[in-house]
Amino acid sequence: MNNIPQIIIAIDGYSSTGKSSFANMIAEEFGYIHLDSGALYRAVTLHGLRKGAIAGGKINEQELVALTEGLEVSLRPRTFIGEEDVEDLIRTMEVSSYVSPVSAIPEIRNFVDSILRKLGERGGVVMDGRDIGTTVFPNAQLKIFMEADDEVRALRRYTETVKAGTETTFDEVLANLRDRDQRDSTRAVSPLRKAEDAVVLDNTYMTFEDQMEWLKEILAKDFGFVFE
Ligand code: C5P
Repeated sequence: MNNIPQIIIAIDGYSSTGKSSFANMIAEEFGYIHLDSGALYRAVTLHGLRKGAIAGGKINEQELVALTEGLEVSLRPRTFIGEEDVEDLIRTMEVSSYVSPVSAIPEIRNFVDSILRKLGERGGVVMDGRDIGTTVFPNAQLKIFMEADDEVRALRRYTETVKAGTETTFDEVLANLRDRDQRDSTRAVSPLRKAEDAVVLDNTYMTFEDQMEWLKEILAKDFGFVFE
């Protein structure tokens, strides 16, 4: 495929709907950059846990915000804090259990948003998260909102987590994703919601190939992508 249009694709949706996997596939297919915004919130959470700003079930918001000053988090595409690859460390249940309250802190959102906007401004990017189409890039040319049955989502995430060597149970994973959906949808700043101009993709019964076919139809019809 030549002359691929360099648009911004924003993918938002509920936890474990496969946003990152889909975004990865899109990036590979079109030579786009994939930016996983959740990974940035997870990296800040990990950093806070290590430095003691998150401890004993409590988040010291002021301390955590202060810790982000000068903090270098990058997506290469694996997630790095400084020169340390933390991609696997940010996927633990411990990080998952704190990341939603961390992401509800306005200063932390500003920190992540400014990284994302800098990386995405030139287009040719696919970004996934909860508020990309509503807040980070409200002018994104294509906005996708992903949904799927929550037990199907939990099963996918559970299988992935166990495969990665982390001990957990299906019930723990299901409870965590329901809790995050609830918190993410009801927080005061940039809550998770479908942008008015987003297209819904419910992938409960879809394979990755089905999703790619669905996307290519939209890209060809609305954005002039040409597929041989
Ligand atoms: O996408 P992932 O599940 O890794 O995101 C982890 C958490 O980060 C989400 O549950 C949500 O609380 C937060 N998040 C957010 N806004 C984004 C991306 C993630 O609030 N754009």
